[in-house]
Amino acid sequence: MLLDIQEPGQAPAPRKRETAIGIDLGTTNSVVAIARGGAPEVLRGERGRALVPSAVAYGSGEPAVGDAALAQLDAGGDVVTSIKRLMGRGAEDVAALAGTLPWRLAPGEGGMARLDVAGRVLTPVEISADILRALRRRAEDALGGAVEKAVVTVPAYFDDAARTATRDAARLAGLDVLRLVSEPTAAALAYGLDKGAEGLYAVFDLGGGTFDISILRLQKGVFQVLATGGDAALGGDDFDRAIAAHLLAGNGPGGGALEPAEARAVLLSARRAKEALGVRDRASVTLPGGAEAEIDRATFERLVRPLVARAIGICAETLEDAGLAREALEGVVLVGGATRVPLVAARVEALFGRPPLADIDPDEVVARGAALQAEALAGGGDTLLLDVTPLSLGVETMGGLFEKIVWRNTPIPAAVAKEFTTYRDGQSGMAIHVLQGERELANRNRSLARFELAGIPPMTAGAARIRVTFAVDADGLLTVSARERATGVESAVEVKPSYGLDEGEIERMLYESLEQGRGDAAMRLLAEARVAAERMILATRAALRADAALLGDGEGARIEAAIARLERAAAGDDRETIDALVSALDDAARPFAQRRMDRSIGAALKGRQVSAVDAELGA
Ligand code: ADP
Ligand code: MG
Repeated sequence: MLLDIQEPGQAPAPRKRETAIGIDLGTTNSVVAIARGGAPEVLRGERGRALVPSAVAYGSGEPAVGDAALAQLDAGGDVVTSIKRLMGRGAEDVAALAGTLPWRLAPGEGGMARLDVAGRVLTPVEISADILRALRRRAEDALGGAVEKAVVTVPAYFDDAARTATRDAARLAGLDVLRLVSEPTAAALAYGLDKGAEGLYAVFDLGGGTFDISILRLQKGVFQVLATGGDAALGGDDFDRAIAAHLLAGNGPGGGALEPAEARAVLLSARRAKEALGVRDRASVTLPGGAEAEIDRATFERLVRPLVARAIGICAETLEDAGLAREALEGVVLVGGATRVPLVAARVEALFGRPPLADIDPDEVVARGAALQAEALAGGGDTLLLDVTPLSLGVETMGGLFEKIVWRNTPIPAAVAKEFTTYRDGQSGMAIHVLQGERELANRNRSLARFELAGIPPMTAGAARIRVTFAVDADGLLTVSARERATGVESAVEVKPSYGLDEGEIERMLYESLEQGRGDAAMRLLAEARVAAERMILATRAALRADAALLGDGEGARIEAAIARLERAAAGDDRETIDALVSALDDAARPFAQRRMDRSIGAALKGRQVSAVDAELGA
């Protein structure tokens, strides 16, 4: 069996003790924290605020970040928000969303998405770097010294491109990323769940504009993200919009659209009312023109109930997809500012049948966990954290099929090797096409990279042993290498795609793979049958050429006829006929193959090897 899986013991290099911070780089808000002696502390700004709005204002001088950036919105400044949504995404991905997004896109020549901001062209990586630079400065001010190392959190579903973009942004901001940790894992660490009972935990994260549910498994102090679900367009901001729309409908002048500045002011006022309704029964919102409108908690809850129900529905689905009953969970953690809405916590409790863990501030919990991990890594110790790959990784094989090498939900770091062989006699190169996705057919998945292993010495088809290794590091970044075993010819590619998939696309790809699964499987069988046929034909023809002298009376013609029938069938799409004719050719050629084998072990292997290789690849 030419398949083996290995997990090299990548022992982390010991590091000397250094200051390392934890950063939650959020879509709406970011937070920086430091842990000392296992005690995390959030680093606060001037007015004691832990949250730094993930907003950057660009003008003539230094960019302003956070509250200072938001303050420039009404002054007509060029302010970028929610840039995290574009991390790792390509110009083409984003162009498709044009008009639905709050950013102005710069005309792109492919590659990374680019924004047109205050007359400059900026990438999401550069804009995120400005936020990270501000967080780093906050830490340096608080700690009174240089800070160069950090653990940065990313959503569990972030793909390779988005993780690479995050790491690049940190590097631009002068931060060496010790590790990218997934947000739910960081939240679980903050609660010390790694020291608690082994088992399953759910992390419910409702932020400003995104909702994520993750199921983690804790085993021997190691977390693994088992499953994720969510909605990239559901969050606390929708609550604000629901309040504003309700009050404007009841009190507004009717008709006429609001100016952007008026709309922002109403939404901000609605947001304050929402936050106040967590602790009070009534709050008021200032409408355009200065009128005050009251809203009570019951009305607010009625308005947001459908939104909360959506999140709860996604949780139930995610549990179901993972094949888990709620009783299987050890606990549920609340993350994200919007989980402070009492209705949200109540619904989570009702769904999971237990009160959720909520005593650590849900705004700060991710940064605290990141800080704990940063301390462990900088101190040389290592709380070994495992994440999983969000989508399967693999290569294209003959017949346009997708051969998965690292399966979806494989814990990382991971290195998986698989052996392939050449298809034609004397084949001197092998094109390796790296893909990501769940579909059976290569072209239905996302192409990550292509490279070639050249210089394979001429060998019989099936004789070369090419070991392809996929290594996904602890940050989820992929390196693919290929090596011919006999000669040691080697080639590798670090997969750094210029764009990535967002959560919605990952979900879409998973969904499609389920929807299309049946059709895919039929097409896979057909493609496999065609590959088997072609392989058989090639090998038989090569044998006929090499050993015509061994053929009996009329035997050559019978084999040629069987080849011709199989060739015709392989051009069609009747798999069963192809399979039957492969067997027929095998039968027709068997006595000939037997004679060749008798004559010379080396040369005679060929005829049989065809079916042996098929079995290996078909496995
Ligand atoms: P993200 O992870 O997307 O950056 P956060 O976790 O910081 O976002 O969540 C921001 C959202 O939480 C905003 O919609 C904000 O209004 C909401 N929020 C913050 N505090 C409260 C509160 N006390 N009550 C209700 N919502 C809140
Ligand atoms: Mg968050």
